[in-house]
Amino acid sequence: MSSVAQGRLALMLTELRLPTVKQLAADICEQADREGWPGLRLLEALFEHEMAQREVRRIARHRLESGLPPEKLLSSFEFAAVPTVSKAQISALAEADAWLKQGGNLLLFGPPGVGKTHLVAGLGHALVEAGHRVLFTRTSELVQRLQAARRELRLPQELSKLDRFDLLILDDISYVRRDQAETSVLFELIAERYERRSLAITANTPFSEWGAVFPEPAMTVAAIDRLVHHATILEMNVESYRRRAARPGHAPAGRKAK
Ligand code: ADP
Ligand code: MG
Repeated sequence: MSSVAQGRLALMLTELRLPTVKQLAADICEQADREGWPGLRLLEALFEHEMAQREVRRIARHRLESGLPPEKLLSSFEFAAVPTVSKAQISALAEADAWLKQGGNLLLFGPPGVGKTHLVAGLGHALVEAGHRVLFTRTSELVQRLQAARRELRLPQELSKLDRFDLLILDDISYVRRDQAETSVLFELIAERYERRSLAITANTPFSEWGAVFPEPAMTVAAIDRLVHHATILEMNVESYRRRAARPGHAPAGRKAK
């Protein structure tokens, strides 16, 4: 190809937003000429690369927007430390998207330090890699954001923005306090997503103490009702991983000290 033709092609591919075709065209066309590919095969090869790269970029974008803590992956989670949670169960949640399609929820309970955040973030990462959209947020931060939206009369818009996420992870719901400010926005979020969009929630207090989170008892009951209707509940009532790891002469389960 003449360099003028190459330059024109590059401009067109930029205009058409086909960066991968642009990057690979010269090499692949040369190979096609050399090996005598039919035109159709050449087109297919170029567009296949473009589509594969597009998927890679899409996932990278979703990873960036997810707010997931980067190092909390399932691969570094020691399942042996939490006998009530099986690796198979978490893999099933990561691989099958039926629960996301049905707006199913995931609730993780346990005292501080048992790995709730790590586990749910690891699942979030796995879902992002599988092509889903996930948002990880501290519950109190999201509540503040929704309250600000309500004051500016754009709560519905803010809630519908969250709709694009297949899974919304609310970390540490127990740190939200109804006296801190008015938390009915949290109830509205739960009601809005009910049976449509999934929530994963971590809590270091049992349901019986969630009265401290919502403004009134009836709302607490209604919120819990909706959350548990289609939910997987993981009870992680083990000793703090941090504390166990810090104890002299003791390694966490799975990597037993000699
Ligand atoms: P929680 O959210 O329940 O308070 P975290 O997920 O923050 O607990 O865990 C506390 C620390 O211990 C984190 O650094 C986390 O990565 C680590 N950790 C907890 N459980 C495990 C586990 N089973 N395997 C590997 N690391 C763990
Ligand atoms: Mg946590």
